[in-house]
Amino acid sequence: MKFNTKAIHGGQHDVDPAYGSVMPPIYQTSTYAQSTPGGHKGFEYSRSGNPTRSALERAFASLENGEYGLAFGSGLAAIDAVIKMLKPGDEVISTNDLYGGTYRLFTKVFEQFGIKFHFIGMEKAEKIEEYVTENTKLIWVETPTNPMMNVIDIKKAAHVAKKHNVLLAVDNTFATPYLQQPLDMGADIVMHSATKYLGGHSDVVMGALVVKDKELAERLYFIQNASGGVCGPQDSFLVLRGLKTLHIRMQRHCENGRKVATYLSNHPKIEKVYWPGLEDHPNHAIAKAQMNDFGGMISFTTKGNNFEEAIKIVERLKIFTLAESLGGVESLAGHPASMTHASIPRLEREKTGVVDSLIRLSVGIEDADDLIADLEQAIG
Ligand SMILES: *Cc1c(COP(=O)(O)O)cnc(C)c1O
Repeated sequence: MKFNTKAIHGGQHDVDPAYGSVMPPIYQTSTYAQSTPGGHKGFEYSRSGNPTRSALERAFASLENGEYGLAFGSGLAAIDAVIKMLKPGDEVISTNDLYGGTYRLFTKVFEQFGIKFHFIGMEKAEKIEEYVTENTKLIWVETPTNPMMNVIDIKKAAHVAKKHNVLLAVDNTFATPYLQQPLDMGADIVMHSATKYLGGHSDVVMGALVVKDKELAERLYFIQNASGGVCGPQDSFLVLRGLKTLHIRMQRHCENGRKVATYLSNHPKIEKVYWPGLEDHPNHAIAKAQMNDFGGMISFTTKGNNFEEAIKIVERLKIFTLAESLGGVESLAGHPASMTHASIPRLEREKTGVVDSLIRLSVGIEDADDLIADLEQAIG
């Protein structure tokens, strides 16, 4: 099956043996009747497994060209499960320009359990190798990064991981499997905040992991069940519904992304535009090689780097909603320094480019002309 067909049918065979409903029923149940102790029909308790969630997990696996999918109550719960495979003394090499919540989870929760994180720029993959020690167990890559839109060469990162026998996990939230499939490039684990593009309608919080390896899937399933960060059946249904239009939504996000990025890069008040599809983007060549298109996430700074001016711009926007999050059908704008990345110390965030005037856009699937007109009136 090719991608568009998989978005609709991947893993969705026989979802309702009882009545043949086309969409899987929402099995709103915590438990399942047993005929004799242990005599059940594949499900015994909904933390361990739920048919609606299973249908979604199969869809995730299909879209990422993996074998096993796992759905969690949030993207961070999915990351939490990955890090719980480690033990005190283990080390992780992580992208430095990282989703703020991931950085917080690594530094404020897992560092106190004795896991060591190295946050480094990975645009040159050779740099990863400099940080590998005998205790390194995991390389954590986010690409494109949030919010600077750096692109990391997944194949090169996978090469380093294989050479040193460590796991490579890729946060594929920004790109989605429509734009890149990390498992095919050698990653061991692909992670999503399904809250974003996979759900696509800003109505659910969810996370996902997909792997190819059975033993790795079993370790992660053990943690999913033992720690219990699962999602409910209603949310599973919503994300399954969202997935069915992922390909057409992404196509429009990319088209609109290109128009908005081009508009911004020609605007006299704009200092820099970060969108991997622009030819002057520092990682444009890698982006072109490993992504099918460049997505709808754009960041930009204004000349003078004025904090107050950036706040005024985001307040003046009318079609773009000022809000955290991204990846929904509607356009959103955010001010990372005071919103998504406020939990990262100023010095740390400025080192990665998250300066006071940086504005991040999640370009939705409205008419691009209306989005550009909105930016025009807000920037002035
Ligand atoms: C939102 C996000 C997360 C966290 O996911 P939640 O669903 O909010 O827990 C992780 N990584 C990236 C890149 C994100 O955008």
